[in-house]
Amino acid sequence: MKSIKSVFKIGNGPSSSHTVGPYRAAQYFGRRYPQADAYRVTLFGSLAFTGEGHGTGKAICAALPGTEVVYNRNETNLPHPNTMLFTALKEGKEIGSSRIFSIGGGAIRGETEALDEDREVYPQKYFSEIVNLCRERGISLAHYIARSEDASLREDLKTVWAAMQDSVRRGLAAQGELPGGLGVARKAKLLYEKRCYNESADVAMNRVIAAYAYAVSEENADEHVVVTAPTCGSCGVLPAVLYYMQTDRGFPEAEILDALAVAGIIGNVIRTNASISGAECGCQAEIGSACSMTAAALASLYGLNIDQIEYAAEIAMEHNLGLTCDPVNGLVQIPCIERNAVAAMRAISSVNLSRFLYETRKISFDEVVDTMYRTGKDMNEKYRETSHGGLASIYRNQ
Ligand code: SF4
Repeated sequence: MKSIKSVFKIGNGPSSSHTVGPYRAAQYFGRRYPQADAYRVTLFGSLAFTGEGHGTGKAICAALPGTEVVYNRNETNLPHPNTMLFTALKEGKEIGSSRIFSIGGGAIRGETEALDEDREVYPQKYFSEIVNLCRERGISLAHYIARSEDASLREDLKTVWAAMQDSVRRGLAAQGELPGGLGVARKAKLLYEKRCYNESADVAMNRVIAAYAYAVSEENADEHVVVTAPTCGSCGVLPAVLYYMQTDRGFPEAEILDALAVAGIIGNVIRTNASISGAECGCQAEIGSACSMTAAALASLYGLNIDQIEYAAEIAMEHNLGLTCDPVNGLVQIPCIERNAVAAMRAISSVNLSRFLYETRKISFDEVVDTMYRTGKDMNEKYRETSHGGLASIYRNQ
């Protein structure tokens, strides 16, 4: 597996596979054909159906100004649901082209070559292999990660954590309507400040964590800077819970960074053996993965053992299985923002169950990841980030 550093990418929302990936692909193509005087990009599949709402053209033009962006919604025989055809032109003539795929979380792949240069860092591929190694050596997951990665990981995680905290704070301070024409108002500040009479500690915790998740997801929907965790659409879950644990519960930053690393290794196992792309496997691959990463991070922060961490991650994914991707009007707002808040609370419930029931568990984390991937591959295309099914189709019929 590659470094966990590439699980967490800092960039502009609202969609890692529809903005961060295409932006990086455009940068790559521009470097490859610097002699071109014009560029054209044809978007296929999910990028063609939801690219306008997700701001794909804008992201490409930010990297390659003046590029002509074409949305091809007719081609169905595609090698990947997020396919882009880049063409370089000089004096009106084609001088080169490349098909590039946006494979999730901002990562890109060429038709014949790997474009992301990350080297392989972990010999292990499955979580079961990691658990066996940790047991053999008597080390924690956080130690396993620190020993496998290079010395720059800690600094990298500090930068990532700072960017996550910034997105929470900015989102909590902002008000007004999100762009795109859906008329969705920002709610993070309202939720954060709205206390019920005689509010119990539990209700207050859920409200505040939900407010943090809204804050980050609203920043994402507003195309501001967020961190993929593991994607932009699901970027609010992990920061919400960790921010609460640091600012409201007083966990020290060093422990938060260890927990972030544990979240990273869970995301790494999922993207290596399955997918973190809504266009490929539905929202279970995005929000399900974020929920799993967060549950594992929280279990690790609480000092639970490796079986409890694994079970927390497994529960969190298991109860997101089958979750479809149906963003209304192709915007990452409904159901995405609320879904981040719900997933944050579900991650906490998963840890609470795993704490007590881990010795009775039947399903391993690797099995649930495999199930998520198979379920995603069986899922009708309507439910894989095309805005043709679910809430997206109902809303249009009103
Ligand atoms: S529904 Fe889920 S996968 Fe689809 S855009 Fe929203 S957060 Fe991403």
